[in-house]
Amino acid sequence: MSDRAAHRAIALFAGHGSPRDSLTETDYSRTWRAIADATPRPKAILAISAHWECKGVLVTRSERPRTIHDFYRFPQEFYDIEYPAPGDPELAYAIEARLEAFRARADLDSWGLDHGSWTVLRWMYPEADIPVLQLSMDVRRSPAEHYAIGRALASLRDEGVMILGSGNVVHNLRVERPRGNEAFPWAQRFDDLVAELVQKGNDEALVACDDLPEADIAMPEKEHYLPLLYVLGARDATERPAIFNRQVLASVSMTCYGFGLPE
Ligand code: ZN
Repeated sequence: MSDRAAHRAIALFAGHGSPRDSLTETDYSRTWRAIADATPRPKAILAISAHWECKGVLVTRSERPRTIHDFYRFPQEFYDIEYPAPGDPELAYAIEARLEAFRARADLDSWGLDHGSWTVLRWMYPEADIPVLQLSMDVRRSPAEHYAIGRALASLRDEGVMILGSGNVVHNLRVERPRGNEAFPWAQRFDDLVAELVQKGNDEALVACDDLPEADIAMPEKEHYLPLLYVLGARDATERPAIFNRQVLASVSMTCYGFGLPE
């Protein structure tokens, strides 16, 4: 492994769970922690969460991004969770410049760190001492444009900035969920298909996600899938995916894809 590769930060797509699962350790959170332990500490983290969609490409530039509790009618203890990671305004402006073609803007206070970010990061880096920025997903853009933004971010990894996409490959909360968490056959099929395409490096098919069989039921809205396209865009063509937490809970997939992890 070259020096450059040794210091390159990882790109990780994490299937995140409900905030309800965020207070206690799970098999998923243990895996996230193991990934952090097995890889160099990043200089900063840029998170793309399913839960920040807006008109425009915004990057948080607060020195102290606030913890956002973007859920309703939960017990108080969930609203008491804080992930007090610092921001990095200088890096935010650098990202704004790098994404000029997408009219990105560094944004002071319309967002902070939502549960897509902190449900994963509080297990990976519990000390919350690495700067974290979030990048919004522009609702007006196509999957190909989300992927292109990911590509434009790829070289940040060489500067030690980890790219974290947080969502779920399969995410359908409209269907009536069975007792227990047995995967719906269509959900399992879709998750398997995406894993196969990621393994083959078939980004073209993954970007044309609307054409994938059963996409309409596996992702009736695409916001939980799209963070995967940023991570695929940020991958080096030579990198093989590491696949973790490969499980479908009824209609939500927890599968994670990591790039740049030790073999
Ligand atoms: Zn979510």
